[in-house]
Formats: sequence, C-alpha cells, structure tokens
Amino acid sequence: MDDVLTGLLRPKGVAVIGASTTPGKIGHTVVKNLIESGYQGGIFPVNPSADEILGLKCYSSVLDIPDNVDAAAITVPAKFVLNVIKECGEKGVKGLIIITSGFSEVGDVELEKELVKTAHGYGMRILGPNVVGTLSNTDNMNASFAPFLPLKGSASLVSQSGALLIAIDAITYTRRIGFDKLVSIGNMSDVNFADMVAWLNEDEDTKCISLYVEGLKEGARFIKESAKAKKPIVVLKAGVSEHGAAAAASHTGSLAGAQKIYSAAFQQAGAIQASDLSDLFDCTLALSLEPPMKGDNLLILTNGGGVGVLATDSAEKAGVPLKFAPKEVQEELKKHMPSFGSAKNPVDMTGMAGNDWYHDTTKFSFANEWVDGLVVLYCETAMTNPQEIAESIYNAVKETGITDKPITVSFVGGERCDDAMQWLVENGIPAYNAPDLAVRAMGALREYARLHAMKQETKIENHAVDKKTARDIIAKVRADGRTALTEIESKKIFTAYDLPVVRTEIATSEDQAVDMAEEIGYPIVLKIVSPDILHKSDAGGVKVNIKDEASVRSAYQEILKNAKAYKADADIHGIVVQSMAPWGTEVIVGSVNDATFGATVMFGLGGIFVEVLKDVTFRVAPISEKEAALMLSEIKSAPILDGVRGESPRDKKMLAQTLAQYAFMITDLADEVQESDANPVLVYEEGKGVQIVDARMILKEK
Ligand code: ADP
Ligand code: MG
Repeated sequence: MDDVLTGLLRPKGVAVIGASTTPGKIGHTVVKNLIESGYQGGIFPVNPSADEILGLKCYSSVLDIPDNVDAAAITVPAKFVLNVIKECGEKGVKGLIIITSGFSEVGDVELEKELVKTAHGYGMRILGPNVVGTLSNTDNMNASFAPFLPLKGSASLVSQSGALLIAIDAITYTRRIGFDKLVSIGNMSDVNFADMVAWLNEDEDTKCISLYVEGLKEGARFIKESAKAKKPIVVLKAGVSEHGAAAAASHTGSLAGAQKIYSAAFQQAGAIQASDLSDLFDCTLALSLEPPMKGDNLLILTNGGGVGVLATDSAEKAGVPLKFAPKEVQEELKKHMPSFGSAKNPVDMTGMAGNDWYHDTTKFSFANEWVDGLVVLYCETAMTNPQEIAESIYNAVKETGITDKPITVSFVGGERCDDAMQWLVENGIPAYNAPDLAVRAMGALREYARLHAMKQETKIENHAVDKKTARDIIAKVRADGRTALTEIESKKIFTAYDLPVVRTEIATSEDQAVDMAEEIGYPIVLKIVSPDILHKSDAGGVKVNIKDEASVRSAYQEILKNAKAYKADADIHGIVVQSMAPWGTEVIVGSVNDATFGATVMFGLGGIFVEVLKDVTFRVAPISEKEAALMLSEIKSAPILDGVRGESPRDKKMLAQTLAQYAFMITDLADEVQESDANPVLVYEEGKGVQIVDARMILKEK
C-alpha cells in the first residue's frame, strides 16, 4: 500500500490551512466537520490572524504545529497555494487536499503543474485541486465541506464531480446504501483514478469500488490497475462526446467514438459500467453486499405472476436469461405452493404464499446446487406482512450457511415494503423496489464473475518481428515531410509485423507493370500509389481481376488518367501490381491512437456498409487472441462469420490471430502511428486463413 496515499486518505493528523473563524466559510466548515465527525487524529487549524477556531488552538503556519501532520486541507486563495505547499513540504506533510479552485478548470494549467512539481519535490501527493475533500467512516473523518459522513457501508466512491459527491453523500441515507469512503478527486492534477483504484484495492474497509468518471487520465494505467483489482469496480461514465470523428482521415477514425473506446476500456479493466446514477447505486449495493454469481443458473421466486414476467423480461437484458430448473428441483418446489402455482422459472408460489412458504422455498432454492443466483420477489398482499416476509427470507438464507452465492430481493408495494427492504439492506441483503432492478443487480454480480474470469485468462503474446524495417519506412516518410503512408509502404510495415498481406509490387512504367503481372501470375489487381489519394477507388484508382497483358496496359493508363483527373497535382509514386485474392468475407481491422488510452484496435464487417452500419467493436491495444476472438463475436453481424446461406464457416481462428497481431503492431508503433486500417481483410473458410488486400497508415503530426 502506498504510504503517502494512506497519509493523504487516512491521516493521523490534519492541518486545515486557511481555517476561518467565520461560520459558512469553507475554511470554517472543514474544521467544524472534522470535529463533528468525531475524528480522533489531531486537528490543526492554520490562520495567522486567529488564535483559536471552534475551541482549537490556531497556528500561524503549518511549520508551527508541534505534532505530526499527515494531511493538509488547503482552502487559501489560489495565489497562496504554492507557498503553502512549500511550507507543508518543509513540515513533512504527506498528502495535500487542495480544496481551493481556480486552476486548470479555469484555464490556469501552468500554475497547477507547478503545484504538482513542487509537491513531488517533497515526496507529497496532491488530491485536487478543486475538491470537496475526503471522508472516511472507518476513521470518523470528514475532511471536506460535505455536511456529514455518509451512511456506513462497505463500498467506497471516488467522484470527479464535487457537487455530485455532496449529493451522493446525502442520498446514501435515503437510499440506504452505505459507503466507507467518499473521495472527491477534482482536477486530478496528481492523484487520478488509477491511483485511487490501486489504493482502494488494498484498503481493507472497501469491498466495492464505485467511480463517477467524466474523463480519465493515464487510461492505460487505469486499465492495468483495475484489472489487478481483487474487488468489484463499478463505474458511471458521464460526458461523452463523439470527438474527433469529423477530422479523422481513416475509416477507423470516423467510427471511433469516445464512448465506444471508454466502454471497451472499462470492459478490459474488468469494471462494470453503470447506465446512470441510480444504476451506480443499485450495482454498488449488490456488489458491496453479495458475492459474484459464478454460474448462469438464475432462479426467480415470486408470489405474483406479473412481477415474475417483468423480471423474466429483464433477465435477458441483464445477461442472465432464465432457464427452467431441472425436474427434481421443480418437484421439491411444488411442495410449497398450491396446485395452480408454477414450479418452473420464475417459480410462482401465487398470492397464497405466506411466511412459511417464502422461508421454505428460499431455503431450499438457495441451498440447491443447480442455483447459481437467487432473486426473490414479493408483491404486497392483504394477507401478508412485508416485514415478516423479509425476516423469513433473511432467516432462510442464514440457515443455509451459504455465503458464496448471491441473492437479491425486490418488494413491490407501499411504505411497509419500503421499511421491510430497508431492514433487509441493513441486514446485508440487497433489496430493490422494482423486479427488474433486482434482476439487473444479479446481472451485475454475474458480469463481475465473468469479467473476473476473463482477467485471469488474458495473456498477450510477444511476437518476434522486424521492427527495423518498420521504423526505416516511417523515417523515410517523415523525411519526405509526409504523415500519410501509401498502401505499399503500409503493407511493408504490416509484413514486417508478420501480417498476411497479398503480394504487392510497385511499377513505375507500363512495361514494368506487365513484367510484374507475369511474374506474380494472373489475375492481378492494379492500384494507384499516391500519398495524396487515400481512398483509391473514389479516384478510379483500382482495377481488379486483370487477366492479360493488354488489360494491364489499358488499366495502367486508365488509372493514371483517372488519378490526374481526380487530383491534378497528386504526387504519384507509381502503380502497384498485386495478386488478385480470391473472394472472401470482407472485414475491417483498424486503429486510432486515442488521447486517453493510446493505441486502440477496432474490428467490424467490411465493405461499403461499415460506415453506415457502424457495426464495429473496440479494445485498447494490445489484446490477447482470446480477447480478439471475443471481439469477433461481439458485432451484430457476427453470424456472417459462421457462414450464412450455405456458406461454410469462416476462419475465425486465423482472423483472431491476425487481429491480435495487428494490435501488437500498432501498440509497438504507438509513438508514431496515429491511425491505421486494413480494409478489407478477406476471410476464407476454416483452415484457409485471411488475406489483407489494402493497408493504410497515418502518422502522428510531430
Ligand atoms: P480503397 O479502399 O483505397 O478504395 P482498396 O485497395 O481497398 O482501395 O480496393 C478497393 C476494393 O477492391 C477492395 O475493397 C476489394 O474489394 C478490392 N480489392 C483490392 N485489392 C484487391 C486484391 N489484391 N485482391 C482482391 N480484391 C481486391
Ligand atoms: Mg480499402
């Protein structure tokens, strides 16, 4: 565990620099909150013009404090912060909670960088600036200007929005969802989400890590730290825009939305993505109270057909579609319901179900081996008492002694139901006021188990490749003052990275083209080679299926003519002659270098529809072959790869290998390559492999 961060988040003594005698001021509120939260460490107000604040001795400088100070909450105006940091450094403070705003969020990036540099010079870390502060129930510490500690619980939340953190703090009481720590992360000048995930993963009072994210810094490190985490992470991502799409030169660029890349990154991080604020709470509640759902068998118990159907509908969406329970399970369940009940799944005990039936059915189901996760639903009835039903469910679960299987509950009804659910949550069983929410929560527990298993399996191979050839080509393109590589330059780099590219040669005269065509063997393809013509077909620069010398000659001339008509001043390097690959399913493999995550890889079905349908999927590179295989199955048109209308299945194994190899290449060249794609890659039937017939690369502007 990082000691400096521990000093920052669980300090033994806190100085409040800029402490104020005036109620209502932040410098006053923070001192008051530390006192009122029952913090047992030293509280040291610092203000040169006061002797005492709220009964505590006030110091004129942090350097005058006789005791150790682990953390300093800084509330002085922005222009004084740098000097305060230096004093804190001299004092031996570990962490700075910079509440003061007016730095990068208002455009003052330089001053903020200066703060970090200075703090790091003393080995200190900065939370913020522009934060609300940090709160910890374990330490009875409210080192913030949020009004009180959150409801006690075992999740911890890190929020990039200060206002939202304060709101969430209050919601914890109305929603009865408990947290141990709330951390406002502000501008993330230093401590960012990657640091927080790493630290909270080690924090024994945190069972579930909840994040409210507007934008990540150090995206790749965030993925790495999260993937290492031994506990669930649930994240709500806000503020997504389709940045950069219009300016992108390649197909991939126009298809890459920030949202898709973030979602891919969260998946790779093993983090569950919440759809909105309520969902963040709902998932957090389940993930902090229940173990993961380790198999696919979900059983739903209900006393009402309606809520049962609603739950069934949402099960598929939640990734836990229902199956009928085995016969012997059904036989046993039938003992606890009238003849008109149903022992299938959902198990409908009917409105006649009382305390005993709930108890017995829950107990039997929860203990049954077939059941991997149990959702118990209850509709308020005139004959039953919600509190007694809640207690029956609770007792049944406890009596089984099982703790490695999840249960979620939903009571649908009025105030009595609300009270009963509150009681359940307080006793460690997640309860929701709608059946779909209980199912969604179970889905999150299933997703956690799946993501966790995936993390264990992911291995990225290190490939032996000809890096020098690749680097030499890039250097030459740079020397030419270009960023766009031609198809043949790109293909040479692809080949250096062992990717299956069709044989391609460049000719600078008609005769040479004929010689090459004979050498390669008909049929062949001719294409224009110009860094100024990136989309060759649009310029009439591609002629396929050329079968003899006369056609080579006429196609050669025609391509040149078309190219000149398309762009009179295009710099034409020649014409490529390449073997004509036989027909295969066209797919696209591409990449963009994302500002947050670095190299990313994209896969989709190719051809002319890719931009219209946007049926593509992303990952942050590099990826394992296993992950590549998962990408192939993720697109909507995935069945096409399995063969449609009598076609035999495509070679998905080789395609996944190629995709992983491609991802390896663009990661390796991430310092140079901004965008790239192979469009199309032709995929043949099983065992026959794939062929890349077109390649594109665009370098970063330097
Ligand atoms: P661009 O994408 O720049 O317009 P391509 O090189 O992708 O040009 O060529 C256009 C189309 O021609 C491809 O989508 C593919 O269908 C076909 N094609 C190109 N090269 C070959 C080849 N070597 N073998 C078979 N088909 C090819
Ligand atoms: Mg193409």
